[in-house]
Amino acid sequence: MNDPVFAPRFTPSPDGLVADFYRHLAEGTLRLQRCDACGTWRHPPRILCGHCGGDGWQWMAASGRGTVYTWTVTHQMLFPPFAEDLPYAVVVVELEEGPRLVTAVRGIEPSALRLGLPVDLRIARVSETVGLHWFVPRT
Ligand SMILES: [Zn+2]
Repeated sequence: MNDPVFAPRFTPSPDGLVADFYRHLAEGTLRLQRCDACGTWRHPPRILCGHCGGDGWQWMAASGRGTVYTWTVTHQMLFPPFAEDLPYAVVVVELEEGPRLVTAVRGIEPSALRLGLPVDLRIARVSETVGLHWFVPRT
């Protein structure tokens, strides 16, 4: 199956650690924080480890492999840039490393989504400093 086209509907304007997260995506890599003390991966970005409280961490490249954890299907226009996509699914993907991302899965109808569906990362570079993550079903 050819990858579906992903056309970003808007560009976020993140700051702080979240800006670092989006910049790594713009550079072509999904990087998540991993605690130096206990090795726990985390997302969204934050200063302290939620597992051990450690304040040392590194941005580490994630595998980009995950499974569908849950989703909701939006049928009403809540945000104009997404109007042409209705109905669309907002999907939570659980990465192999553990953290979950709120994201999109393209190339599959919302009605065909299944819990545990294996998915693979894709990245859309939308500017010098922002990339967006999305996923496709694993083939
Ligand atoms: Zn930790």
